[in-house]
Amino acid sequence: MRITALSGGVGGARYLRGLRALLAPDDELTVIGNTADDIWLFGLKVCPDLDTLMYTLGGGIDEHRGWGRANETWGAREELAAYGVEPTWFGLGDRDLATHIVRTQMLQAGYPLSAITTALCERWQPGVMLVPMSDDRVETHIVIADEAGGRRAIHFQEYWVRLRASVPVLDVVAVGADTAVAAPGVLEAVSEADVIVLPPSNPIVSIGTILGVAGIADALRATQAPVVGVSPIIAGAAVRGMADELLAGLGIENSAAGVALHYGTRADGGFLDGWLVHTSDGDAVGRLNAVGIASRSVPLLMSDLTATTTMARATLDLAAGLSR
Ligand code: GDP
Ligand code: CA
Repeated sequence: MRITALSGGVGGARYLRGLRALLAPDDELTVIGNTADDIWLFGLKVCPDLDTLMYTLGGGIDEHRGWGRANETWGAREELAAYGVEPTWFGLGDRDLATHIVRTQMLQAGYPLSAITTALCERWQPGVMLVPMSDDRVETHIVIADEAGGRRAIHFQEYWVRLRASVPVLDVVAVGADTAVAAPGVLEAVSEADVIVLPPSNPIVSIGTILGVAGIADALRATQAPVVGVSPIIAGAAVRGMADELLAGLGIENSAAGVALHYGTRADGGFLDGWLVHTSDGDAVGRLNAVGIASRSVPLLMSDLTATTTMARATLDLAAGLSR
């Protein structure tokens, strides 16, 4: 079986660890990773979601934080701060820095991000085929109010890491998305998959930005394979992260059903066939089934690998019941 997933960082990576545990030897899991969180810092290309996927699936993640390397030290951050180098709000750990240095060197030598990701994964052996959504630069910016009553756009990382998502979102703009081309293999991974899975990743700044790359949403609409997903929203709130603020800013209903309807039913020009909601969101099941999105309520808290694997099993079971 060929499974393709569209993923952000922490939520997607944890879920994929459960899904990977279910793979038979001849199954293939391709993960299309969001790269719109990427940022150039201190002259280095940083790809937070690709790295979270690589470290989590490769056993190098800091389990407690959910991002960055285990057993990290912060000497370089302290030294940069001592020089007064900005930004001070984004700390790169010493171990993590090596990844960004290797990536940046390879970019400067002319390799595309997709080839670099494959090279980095040779060390981490994530057990999945990890591909960035695009080799082109795409960076999410969040539009917020400025002091003079106007609007200004700041990089997503500044909004999230420096401002802790504490200011209202007026709009979300993926700069570069209009000209970005899907990375090699991405469109094929969607159109040739037997099942397409949307992990509980952020629907706007993780999966939404992947869908913004030309051809990906069309490939999802065109495929005969079932497209099934897992709600990142439980009882009207994101389990972690800033999805609440983004959904509110874009006027999207902040609920398990709201996210499913945002991806859209086939009849409405969307692509979602199946959707898992948490047991506390049982009211969404009837509502979604009524519009043609097959829905079930099951426990959706990724408290440990067993619970996550059970969630992934429920996702594949849901997909298996959907013949298109
Ligand atoms: P990010 O790039 O690191 O923000 O990670 P993702 O976009 O892949 O995932 C973020 C989403 O994961 C958030 O919207 C969370 O609500 C969701 N999430 C995190 N932990 C859980 C969990 O245990 N269960 C569910 N259902 N969603 C979760
Ligand atoms: Ca992310």
